[in-house]
Amino acid sequence: MPSNFTQDYGLDFQLCYDPEEITNGVGNHNSYTYHICVVGNGSFTAAQEEAFEERCKLAMKRLNIPVERVLGHKEFKGASTSCPGIDMNLVRNRLKKSLNEVKTAQKEEPKMPEYKKDAAPSKSLAKEFNATVELKITDGTYPQRPVMREEAAVMAYRAYEKAMNNK
Ligand SMILES: [Zn+2]
Repeated sequence: MPSNFTQDYGLDFQLCYDPEEITNGVGNHNSYTYHICVVGNGSFTAAQEEAFEERCKLAMKRLNIPVERVLGHKEFKGASTSCPGIDMNLVRNRLKKSLNEVKTAQKEEPKMPEYKKDAAPSKSLAKEFNATVELKITDGTYPQRPVMREEAAVMAYRAYEKAMNNK
């Protein structure tokens, strides 16, 4: 067991990496790789799969690693091992799928409210709002939509001009 197996969480899971430290995971490739070690050979428990996926996605995000560069021990040049004993294409596809699901969920989240162009103004504001339309300070469309700074500036300017002309 290498000395950098700093903690042992029992049979299923070992923390054998510190993100800031070069660890011994793959001979001749340690200096530029980030290791996740799952104990077992080809058949892992659901908890192990789950922990791997969570840690892998975290590391990918943190170190900006694309899924194509998530490799199994045996896939490294010069490695003569069957480790980790599973088809890494399946692992990568699963990661890809789960990352896409996150992306889609994030995309869908901020739902903009739908503003109607010809909506009626709120009852409590209708009288004065309609007056601003009549004065051509605003055109009366989208009465509930948030205002942009440039729109607010133009409306203020129109009101100012009206006031100056009425003097
Ligand atoms: Zn290995």
